[in-house]
Amino acid sequence: MNALQPYAASEENSRGRIHAEEAPAERGQFQRDRDRIVHCTAFRRLEYKTQVFVNHEGDLFRTRLTHSLEVAQISRGVARALGLNEDLAEAIALAHDLGHTPFGHAGQDALDACMRAHGGFEHNLQSLRIVDVLEERYGAFDGLNLCYETREGILKHCSAANARALGELGRRFLEKRQPSLEAQVCNLADEIAYNNHDVDDGLRAGLITVEELETVPVFARHVATVRAAFPSIGQRRLIHETVRRMINTLVLDLVGETRRRIGLAQPDSLEAVRGCAPLAAFGAQLRAEQNVLKAFLNEHLYHHYRVRRMTAKARRIVAELFEAFAGDPRMLPRQYQERAREDCFRTVADYIAGMTDRYAIAEHRRLFAVGEI
Ligand code: MG
Repeated sequence: MNALQPYAASEENSRGRIHAEEAPAERGQFQRDRDRIVHCTAFRRLEYKTQVFVNHEGDLFRTRLTHSLEVAQISRGVARALGLNEDLAEAIALAHDLGHTPFGHAGQDALDACMRAHGGFEHNLQSLRIVDVLEERYGAFDGLNLCYETREGILKHCSAANARALGELGRRFLEKRQPSLEAQVCNLADEIAYNNHDVDDGLRAGLITVEELETVPVFARHVATVRAAFPSIGQRRLIHETVRRMINTLVLDLVGETRRRIGLAQPDSLEAVRGCAPLAAFGAQLRAEQNVLKAFLNEHLYHHYRVRRMTAKARRIVAELFEAFAGDPRMLPRQYQERAREDCFRTVADYIAGMTDRYAIAEHRRLFAVGEI
C-alpha cells in the first residue's frame, strides 16, 4: 500500500469493531474486513442478482458481483492516487450492494412498498443489516463484526427515522456530516461503473444504439476520437474503446477535482474530512455531462419497453412472495420460523431480499404453479 495521507482512514484512527478481537496476523484490519466480505454468503449470491437485466437474460451482462468488482477496481485506483486507504475502499466497494433484493431496483421498490407499514425496506440499510446481524458464521457474534469505517461506508444513504434508530452510525445523516473519503470515493466509483457498464450492456442487448448515444455529448466526444484513430474499427471494439475512454476520463477527473478540494479544505485528519463539505467529486463540466448520460439511460434503457416488462414481472413476483409468506409464515423455510414468530414482516423481507433472481423465480413457481412443489 502507498503512504497514507493524514486525512485517510487508518488502523490508528479507526473507531474499531463492536466486539473486540485480537489483531489479525500478517494482514491489516481493513484487509480482514475485505476478506470476511468475500467469504460471506451474501457476497456469493451477488453472482445471481442483477442490476438492470434479469440474470438469466444472458451470460454476458453485468451481475451485482461483476459490478461490485468493477466498483472495487475503480475505488482502489482512485484511493491509491489520492493516498487513501485502498483496503478500506475495496472492502466498502465489495460490500456496498450486499443488501440488494433480486431483480435490481424493481425488486427493492416492490419490497419497500410491501414493508411500508412495517418500517420500509432500504437496500443500503439491508447491506448493513447483513454484515451486522444476518450473516451467521462466527461463534462469538452475529454478522461479520466489521470496523466502524467499513460499516459507515456501506451505509450510503439512510432515512432520518432509520438514522435515529441506528445511534452512532446514523448520526452523520442527522448532523449532515460526511463519511471517510474512502466511502465518498466508492460512492462515485459506483456511479462511474454503472453508467458505463449500462451503456455497454444496453448496446450489447440491442436496447440502445450507438447512433442514439451520439446525442449524449460525453459519448459523442469519445466515439469521435476512437473513429478518428481507428477508421475501420468494428462495432464491438468501437464500443469498448469508447467506454474505456469514458471511464478513464471520469476517474482522472474525480482524482483531479478531489485533490483540488482537499487542497482548498486542507483536512488534517479523518475527523476533519467528516466535518468538511463533500471532498470527493467530479468537476462541474463532467458532473453536468454525467447527468445528461444518466437522463439518457433513464429514458432509453431503464424505461425501454422490454426492460419495463421485466421489471413489472419482477415487482409482481416479489409482491406475491411477500403476500404469501406474510399471510402464512409457516410456509417459510424452517430456519426462519423462529425469528418470524418475533417479527414476521422483517423476517419475510430478509428472506426475500436474500434471494437471487433465479431462486425467487423458482420459489414463486413452487408457491403458485399448479403441479409444482
Ligand atoms: Mg452499486
